[in-house]
Amino acid sequence: MSTPTPPFFDVRMQGFRNRATVAEVLATLDSRVVALPAETVELCDLAGRVLATPVSSAVDVPGFERAAMDGYAICAEDSVSPTPMTVVGEAFPARPYTGHVERGQAVRITTGAPIPDGADAVLMAEFASRDSDACVSATAPVVAGKHIVRVGEDVAKGREVLPAGRQLRPQDLGLLASIGVSRVSVHRRPRVAVLVTGNELLPPGSRPESFRIVDSNSPILAALVARDGGEPLPVRYLPDDYNAVRDAIRETDADLILVTGGTSVGTEDHAPRAVAEVGELTFHGVALRPAGPLGVGFLSSPGHSNLPLFLLPGNPVSCLCAYDLFAGRIVRRLGGRAWELPYRRITAPLASGINSVVDRVDYVRVKVENGLVLPILGSGASNLSSTVTADGFVLVPHERDELNAGELVEVWLYAG
Ligand code: AMP
Ligand code: MG
Repeated sequence: MSTPTPPFFDVRMQGFRNRATVAEVLATLDSRVVALPAETVELCDLAGRVLATPVSSAVDVPGFERAAMDGYAICAEDSVSPTPMTVVGEAFPARPYTGHVERGQAVRITTGAPIPDGADAVLMAEFASRDSDACVSATAPVVAGKHIVRVGEDVAKGREVLPAGRQLRPQDLGLLASIGVSRVSVHRRPRVAVLVTGNELLPPGSRPESFRIVDSNSPILAALVARDGGEPLPVRYLPDDYNAVRDAIRETDADLILVTGGTSVGTEDHAPRAVAEVGELTFHGVALRPAGPLGVGFLSSPGHSNLPLFLLPGNPVSCLCAYDLFAGRIVRRLGGRAWELPYRRITAPLASGINSVVDRVDYVRVKVENGLVLPILGSGASNLSSTVTADGFVLVPHERDELNAGELVEVWLYAG
C-alpha cells in the first residue's frame, strides 16, 4: 500500500518545511522500483549484462573422455612393471584413433584428443622412453584415469551453471559458449534521460565565458549511469522556464529521468512544481548534506506506470552525492543489479573530527593517507575539485552530531 503524497508545497523563497530522512527515501524507492523486463541477447553482447533466468547445461562438458596431456594413451598396468609397448596409432583432437588399445599397446595422443577404447591412462611424453619409432616404455608408473578428463568433469549435464541475477563476467560468456548456449535472457538496460536546467550553462566542450559556466553534471551522470549498467540518452538542455521544464519532463521517453538543477528555493527553481503537475512529487527535500534539495517523483505514461524521476541539485558535488546515494541505486535496480554502492569499503581511523547535526546524513569527502582518514573540510557543494582530490567519502549517520578524531569510520572509495 502506498501512502498518499502530501499536497505540493512550493519551497521557493520560503525554504523546506520538513525534509525526508535518507532512510525514508530509500525505503520508498526499494518498495516501488523493480527490475525491468527481460530481453534475449546474443553472446557477443552479454558482458556485464544481468541474467534474468538461471542457465543450466543441457550437455556434459566434455562430452567424451579426452587427453589432458600430450603423450601416449595406454593401459595403466603396462606402466607398473614397465614393458615395451608397441605404438599402434595416433589420436588428435577431433581425429580419434578408431581401434581398440590392447595390453602392450600405446597410441600417441595430443591434448584434447579422445581417449581410445581400451586405454585407461595417458603417459606424459616426458615419462615415456622411446625405444624406437614403434616402441615406448614408461619411466614412471601412472594410475588408471591419469591425465584423462572425464565426461562432464567441467560441467555435468543438468547442472545450473549461472544463477538469475548474475552480472556476467567474461569467463561466464566462455562457459555459456562451451555448453552450446548463444543467447540468454537478461534484464533490459535502463535508458536514462538527463535533463539539464539552467540558463547559465554551456554544453561540455565549451569554454566558460562571461557569466556562463560549463555543465559539469551531465558528463558525471553519463559516466555513472554507464558504470551502473544503464544507457545514458543524449543530454537535453532546458532554460529556466516553467513550461519548458514541465513539457520536457512530460514528453521524455525513458526508464528513468534525471533532472539537474532548478530544484531548490530560488525563484527560477521550477522542476518540483513541474513534477507535481505532471506526476507525483513523492519527496522534496531530504536530510542529507550536500544534497538537501533532492526531489524524487514518479510519472505515469502509456509505457510506464511507475517511472522514477530524480531532481538532482545543480551544484556538482550535491549532484554526485544524490546520484551516489539514490539515483545510482535505481539505475542498478532497474537493470537487475544489486542495490549496494559499487564502491569498495575500508575501515580506518579519522585523523580529525567531523561536525554534523542529529537527524541529517553528511556525505563528507575524505582523503586516505598513511592509514588515516582526512576529511576535506570547508569545501562547499560547488567545489567539484574536492571530489577529485578525495579518495572517497564517509557518511556521518543520521543519529550522530559528530564523528570524533581517532574513531573508526567506513570510507567508500571512488576508485575500484
Ligand atoms: P540550481 O540547483 O539550479 O539552483 O544550481 C545550483 C548551483 O549549481 C548554481 O550555482 C548553478 O549555476 C550550478 N549548476 C547548476 N547546474 C549545473 C551544471 N549542470 N553544471 C555545473 N554547475 C551547475
Ligand atoms: Mg539553476
